[in-house]
Amino acid sequence: MEDRTSRSAWWLLLAAGVVWVVLAMNLWGNADHQEVSYTAFRQDVAADQVASVVLSGSSITFTLRDAAARQLETTAPSPPDPGFWQLIDRHHVEVWAHAGDSSTLWWTIGLVAIPVIAVLLFWRRGNEPGAGGLPTTFSFNQSKARLYLSDRPRITFEDVSGVDEAKAELQDVVDFLRLPARYHRVGARIPKGVLLMGPPGTGKTLLARALAGEARVPFLSLSATEFVEMYVGVGAARVRDLFEKARSRAPCVIFLDEIDAVGRRRGTGVANVNDEREQTLNQLLAEMDGFDPSAEIVIVAATNRPDVLDPALLRPGRFDRRVVVGLPDRSGRRAILDIHLRRVPLAADVDPDALAAATPGLSGAELANLVNEAAVVAARADRVQVDAADFELARDKILLGGRRRGKLILEDRRVIAFHEAGHALVAFYVPGADPVRKISIIPHGFALGATHMVPDDERVNLPRSYLEGRMAVALGGRAAEQLVFGEITSGAEADLREATRIARMMVTRWGMARHLAPAALAPDPGTEGPDLLERPFSEDLAARIDQEVLEVADHVLHRAQDILGAHRAHLERLAEILLQEESIDRARFEEIASAS
Ligand code: ADP
Ligand code: MG
Ligand code: ZN
Repeated sequence: MEDRTSRSAWWLLLAAGVVWVVLAMNLWGNADHQEVSYTAFRQDVAADQVASVVLSGSSITFTLRDAAARQLETTAPSPPDPGFWQLIDRHHVEVWAHAGDSSTLWWTIGLVAIPVIAVLLFWRRGNEPGAGGLPTTFSFNQSKARLYLSDRPRITFEDVSGVDEAKAELQDVVDFLRLPARYHRVGARIPKGVLLMGPPGTGKTLLARALAGEARVPFLSLSATEFVEMYVGVGAARVRDLFEKARSRAPCVIFLDEIDAVGRRRGTGVANVNDEREQTLNQLLAEMDGFDPSAEIVIVAATNRPDVLDPALLRPGRFDRRVVVGLPDRSGRRAILDIHLRRVPLAADVDPDALAAATPGLSGAELANLVNEAAVVAARADRVQVDAADFELARDKILLGGRRRGKLILEDRRVIAFHEAGHALVAFYVPGADPVRKISIIPHGFALGATHMVPDDERVNLPRSYLEGRMAVALGGRAAEQLVFGEITSGAEADLREATRIARMMVTRWGMARHLAPAALAPDPGTEGPDLLERPFSEDLAARIDQEVLEVADHVLHRAQDILGAHRAHLERLAEILLQEESIDRARFEEIASAS
């Protein structure tokens, strides 16, 4: 919306400019006669060369009697020439007097003043807390940063739902921007760079604006795609300009949307565009490093491709705080729907809870779209309320249209729920495993679901039982699929890799093989190049190592299956609850897993 208003404002300014030029040309178009001295004018009159004069204020325009009827111009002296009329009479010069002298003056003033006033006005609006104004793009190099300043309807954390963890992580940034003195006083430094990462439409942009809104500071927003133009150097200049603007407005928030457009790993891609991007990225890095550490400016960037970012961007002092903005779970969707349902009059049969349950995998943006689509259906039918059937239609359209993701999720959810429940339950019942912090069946990146575990304390020395426990947890997903469905899926790829990695380390580095004497069977850590390929053992031993690795994996898989078989009821219940709620935190999980 901001985009549209500022664009139309630009069109208006452009139109006004055109009108102004046309008017100006009309008024002054005939007026660009050659200017001569008053003396020359007198001489021309005296020589009977002048046919007529036009008097307009102090300006005298006169037409010569030559064949071309040339027009010249002069200015009457200010102590008036006493002999003027006599001279004119004597030489029969025709006199025209323009009554419009003062009006011309006013026109002139108006024509000069209007654009000046307009520019000043827009300039002030763009700069001062007060209104959005125009994007302050007055020169080629200036960044197209849009400013959203305080007294337009402010977006706060209340407008963002279903991302409570991200909001919690941003809270101290808000506090810092609001009360910087409190932090400076004790020498506390706050992250300068916050990277919001998550799938499209999960509310990253919204969250960044809400951050500024909460802190009541200016919000300078620029999409990184706008940095990267075909003209080399423009991007870098825009970055410089953006930071300059920010410095004069601190405390404030700079928001770089779609940072991956500039922040891709350097050294890949097409030459020309790439040079430009690298320059822009380098400038960005330089600006971030050159920041006065006490400057009250927070740079927020957003991306849905954190994997392609240049590592330089993620180094300490740059975007070192990373906040995941994930797809909402069921209760999150309910909360997001509540926000967007406020705008539409609902029929009595609409149940927001049921709606949230029926829309797994949808992002905040898609939910907002769902509400809108439903309202459109109702409007088309000329109804004044949006009913459940409208939502049904809208949902089908969104789930089936374009992407198959939503539908796919509906079909696979059961398998995923059991898979994740398997990981979590094995973790719960295998002795010494890390506690489960959170389980979710919301797709994230390439992973279909996730079971997050955190060690209670940092371990340095890893006992074999712990390592085998970790492998069992990794294979718990596969074990659950097998147990419940008698069928296995490709969903365990990453799990298998993890388990195999641990098994190989146990056998080759830590001397934990069952049928081999303890020996270092891997190249020394840090070995590189051709040495890495050189095995310090025979072909025969290599085969036995592989055998050992497979044996550990097999042993551990059976362990996982045994655990799940013994806790089948827990597994079923956990999976059902996951299907219902989509994500479960540690306390709730432990309650379910230990229930009798
Ligand atoms: P992103 O930047 O992550 O792609 P946006 O912030 O642009 O997503 O989201 C687009 C729109 O979708 C928002 O303006 C808002 O209307 C809606 N939306 C997305 N996520 C949320 C959320 N978590 N809470 C409320 N509304 C949301
Ligand atoms: Mg966005
Ligand atoms: Zn898994």
